[in-house]
Amino acid sequence: MALIVQKFGGTSVANADRIRNVARIITDTYKAGNQVVAVLSAQGDTTDDLIEKAAEINPNASKREMDMLLSTGEQISCSLCAMAIEGLGYPAISLTGWQAGMKTNSTYSNARIKRVECERIRNELDRHSIVIVTGFQGINKYDDITTLGRGGSDTSAVALAAGLHADLCQIYTDVDGIYTADPRFVRGARKLEEITFDEMLELASLGAQVLHNRSVEMAKRYNVNLEVISSFSGNPGTKVKEVVKNVEKSHISGVAKDKNIARLALVGLKDEPGIAFKIFSLLARNKINVDIILQSIGRNESKDISFTVGKPDLEEAKRLLEENKEWLSFDHVDVSDRIAKVSIVGAGMMNTPGTAARMFEALFNAGINIHMISTSEIKVSVLVPAEDADRAVQVIHDQFFDEFNS
Ligand code: ADP
Ligand code: ASP
Ligand code: MG
Repeated sequence: MALIVQKFGGTSVANADRIRNVARIITDTYKAGNQVVAVLSAQGDTTDDLIEKAAEINPNASKREMDMLLSTGEQISCSLCAMAIEGLGYPAISLTGWQAGMKTNSTYSNARIKRVECERIRNELDRHSIVIVTGFQGINKYDDITTLGRGGSDTSAVALAAGLHADLCQIYTDVDGIYTADPRFVRGARKLEEITFDEMLELASLGAQVLHNRSVEMAKRYNVNLEVISSFSGNPGTKVKEVVKNVEKSHISGVAKDKNIARLALVGLKDEPGIAFKIFSLLARNKINVDIILQSIGRNESKDISFTVGKPDLEEAKRLLEENKEWLSFDHVDVSDRIAKVSIVGAGMMNTPGTAARMFEALFNAGINIHMISTSEIKVSVLVPAEDADRAVQVIHDQFFDEFNS
């Protein structure tokens, strides 16, 4: 008998038929002699609809109240799924994040899981129940409901799998697994049989929403046996592991795109020591995450520094910099939110010279201008105009994955 955690995303539970489909997958696993803990997201666009509802009442609602509201979406899908399983004649119980012992910190709307107290779930499993847990939410030290950030149900599932020492954590979704690029938008995207935690973490952090990046981080830390699989097709999915067999031909695992970023440029900074420290410590103190940084060569005792932040942080970053203009001593700040980051990821690129050059060649042939570049051992990211982002992903993907090119 194995203990299996199965997570089902919003599309997989969008309506009554799909909930019945999910109930069938869960009960098939249970009938095969396994203990099952299922983690569900809110149905379809429920979370977006709730955010809109809140905005109609108060566009500046507190994050605490937003969490109270958004957590209800997952309660609906879980109770409905438990009813569907009862209807099939199997024992099921749905639990909210707090009933399931999901303890988080107090960063409302983007809380981190601190620990999972699994007693209640274990008791229910011992009573032979199928346990259905609300994804995306937990409870903090004030007994307030918190949510884990958009897409956070994957992290709930991995946390439960780690806490329960589950044999397997399956992330059921609306595509057949992890592909070399988003299969909905990129022609020729290929399904990967397996991918390493490190590569998947990069892909998820660089915009591939198929897995919440913190879920991958946690799966790596606790060595969770993780797979991404379709709720609909019955095809084999993709395994995410520490080490993979070298079955893929290409040294690149995937291409990702992130349109949710903005660029700030501080123009006319003094060319003297300590400037970068002052700017980035100011932003860090205000919890603004900075990504790609580019500094120009100093000329005539003046230099420029450009960097990217997440779009939601743009206004706050701009305000902070302008408020500190005199102290930081720059001429003006220039912002653009019409940019996107396109990245290639692959552990194989470490040993393959010329990978970045091939990426730049594809962009050059397509007439796409690169604004900034950043590299690490297993990724290369470029900043391109937002309107060119989709085309950039396609031409880069063709460059590395077309039979003819690769
Ligand atoms: P769920 O609601 O099941 O959590 P998500 O919408 O969060 O589903 O994630 C699945 C989606 O991720 C797919 O429908 C696909 O469009 C997108 N996606 C982006 N990049 C990739 C990739 N490399 N492989 C597979 N899917 C991807
Ligand atoms: N329902 C939440 C969201 O839409 C969590 C999730 O789906 O993972 O972001
Ligand atoms: Mg998701």
